[in-house]
Amino acid sequence: MRLTSPDREVYPGEGITKRHVAEYYEAVAEWLMPELAERPTSLLRCPDGIGGDCFFQKKHADSLGPGVHAVCLDERDGEDEYIYVRDIEGVLSLVQMNAIEFHPWGARRRSPEKPDRLVFDLDPADGVPWKEVLRAAREVRDRLSAAGLESWPRLSGGKGIHVCVPLEPRAGWGRAKDFAEAVARAMAGDSPDRYVASASKELRRGRIFIDWLRNGRGNTSVAGWVLRARPGAPVAMPLRWDELGRTRSGGHWDIHSARRRAARLRSDPWEGFFQVRQRLPR
Ligand code: ATP
Ligand code: MN
Repeated sequence: MRLTSPDREVYPGEGITKRHVAEYYEAVAEWLMPELAERPTSLLRCPDGIGGDCFFQKKHADSLGPGVHAVCLDERDGEDEYIYVRDIEGVLSLVQMNAIEFHPWGARRRSPEKPDRLVFDLDPADGVPWKEVLRAAREVRDRLSAAGLESWPRLSGGKGIHVCVPLEPRAGWGRAKDFAEAVARAMAGDSPDRYVASASKELRRGRIFIDWLRNGRGNTSVAGWVLRARPGAPVAMPLRWDELGRTRSGGHWDIHSARRRAARLRSDPWEGFFQVRQRLPR
């Protein structure tokens, strides 16, 4: 893999270079790729490191390099080519193009109109204690479980937790989003002092926003094991439910500790996520 400017700092003042980013992704590939491969994927690219201007990119270009593929998807008017990768080679090509974050769709490129996962993104307002975020994640899990759906948690690498639900790709985006909205509104309705289900900033004060809007066609969420372009090089981390209580924030893992975790892991913390067969309830 050709890497230009390998010694350029990506995280200023933290001694983390482009080569370190590439080595990180190579080291965690076994755990990263199942969640990322074969999905339309948006990139966050930071050509001057995270201290410079970063930009989101969803459209494919040949200049992205080998192993970076195009999938043609319908748009409002016409269609366009979106990015996807199949393997770590594609990811490393994107790192060469200064991509740091990878945000896949909740659908695979071969059936882009049939979501195969939901994401409930828990976004705490400033000042909400972490244990409240943990409690919210478990409440989402329990409500999903009551609806017959198993879920798995992921620290966002930022402020919150994503509760993720694998689905058989049967229903369309409309039903997926309606279901996610209903869960979020039920929680906010029952505990209006703790949760909000609408995006309004005003209502969020002191509460946790249960963002169900991630579940519409074309929306994305960061994949597990992905480095965030934020100070400290935090990582979005998939967890087992019984690990969640030992975390202290959404940015609990960083590039160094995530790499150690990847090397130590015996089984995927999301064991079952890729095997379970479940559908949205009627
Ligand atoms: P946090 O815990 O801090 O909320 P997060 O991963 O949940 O982290 P963000 O990184 O703020 O949330 O991303 C918000 C949403 O917007 C995600 O769905 C992400 O895929 C998407 N996104 C992020 N940056 C952009 C951008 N520049 N353009 C379009 N979509 C973006
Ligand atoms: Mn979030």
